[in-house]
Amino acid sequence: MRRKLVVGNWKMNGSQVSIDKLLSALESDIDTDSSAEVAVCPPCVFIPQVAAALSGGSIAWGAQTISEHQQGAFTGEISGAMLAEFECRYAIVGHSERRSLFAEGDEQLVEKFAAAQRVGVTPIFCVGESLAQRESGAALSTVSAQLQLLINRVGIDAMADAVIAYEPIWAIGTGETASVQQVQQVHSHIRALLAGASASVAAASQIIYGGSVNAANAAELLGSEDIDGALVGGASLKAKEFAAIVAAASSVN
Ligand code: PEP
Repeated sequence: MRRKLVVGNWKMNGSQVSIDKLLSALESDIDTDSSAEVAVCPPCVFIPQVAAALSGGSIAWGAQTISEHQQGAFTGEISGAMLAEFECRYAIVGHSERRSLFAEGDEQLVEKFAAAQRVGVTPIFCVGESLAQRESGAALSTVSAQLQLLINRVGIDAMADAVIAYEPIWAIGTGETASVQQVQQVHSHIRALLAGASASVAAASQIIYGGSVNAANAAELLGSEDIDGALVGGASLKAKEFAAIVAAASSVN
């Protein structure tokens, strides 16, 4: 059975002091017996602090992006080996903010996905349509194209060590959540696409949803058959809210 996974994406927020407070609050508010898997993705400069605080506990950590290059003259970049050295379990790859604000394209994202797996870091590969694509009826075809390109390049077996995050761009940071029916439709479409190549990979894959998930809507979303967890932005910066999302995930596991 697939376990639910709740991942907090802190984006470019926090300071050493605020992160210390958030980590302490998370450790006391999140039920350590929770059956859901939990991870947080801080800005990379805070990864050592987070790793030191969470090491040995039940909350994992990861990075918000990863370089496709292994080492060398890539000013400002962080390699997979560096993330692995700080025991990152996950790296988010292809978040829509990276795609749109930093012009990360499909080919580059395939390389980032492979770079993460090369060092044993699990990529959380984000896909999702814009509002215009949804309104023109192209939500499913957009997501299929993003995923199919990845699968064609890395192979279906690589998807067994990855998480897929469906994040409709119009729902990220907007307060507008996709309906359970909309999310379930896309998630079952993604699972069918995976099943076309491997039934076992499809059955085991964690397909999580991101887009204005909060304590109030988490239980309904996470109760749906193909919604295996949540990628949480804004609400992950509030310990009680994030813990409530984890509790919701745990209650439907
Ligand atoms: C995100 O950044 O991945 C995200 C889903 O943000 P929010 O929860 O704030 O919409």
